[in-house]
Amino acid sequence: MRKALLVVDVQNDFYETGTLPVSDASKINEVVNRTMKDPVYRVIVASQDWHPSNHMSFAVNHGKEPFTPFDNGKGIGPVLWPVHCQQGTRGAEFHQDIESYRFDYIVRKGTHPFVDSYSIFRENDGTELGTDGLLRALGIEELDVCGLALDYCLKYTVHDALLTGFKINVIINGTKGVETNKGDVQRTIDEFKKAGVELIEK
Ligand SMILES: [Zn+2]
Repeated sequence: MRKALLVVDVQNDFYETGTLPVSDASKINEVVNRTMKDPVYRVIVASQDWHPSNHMSFAVNHGKEPFTPFDNGKGIGPVLWPVHCQQGTRGAEFHQDIESYRFDYIVRKGTHPFVDSYSIFRENDGTELGTDGLLRALGIEELDVCGLALDYCLKYTVHDALLTGFKINVIINGTKGVETNKGDVQRTIDEFKKAGVELIEK
């Protein structure tokens, strides 16, 4: 089976010193870099969260506190975030220790102010980002997925990949969760197993 590697949101703001930090995020870097060198992958596709400053996923743009539950049913929610991954800022750049020159394609997401986007496949209102078509055109049938954060953007990416019929493996030592609510990481892993997603180590 032709394989692709998906690398989700390995951007400064999701690392330990960022504005929306994932604990121990930098521990995945060595795994991600090593995995990217594996010639088994026909293509490596990375996602990059890329918000304008007036993005409505930012709590401050509602006059609310970060992590306030919010869902407008049209692409913003289920929660409001601290300002993160603003277009053109250092926080939106890929982490310096990630060998991002190995990415074949970069899919930017969350670029419209009124729509958030967790998945590399489609925005939260269902708008396609073109990733499915890209992977199909390249004859890809199987995906290995790594990156940040396990319980948000990686989870939604896996969910959409399952809907479109790819075989999915999550590189469990190449991802970490943000754990907004205690137990989110374990719940996500349980969901993956139930859905037939294979958990692998690299
Ligand atoms: Zn975002």
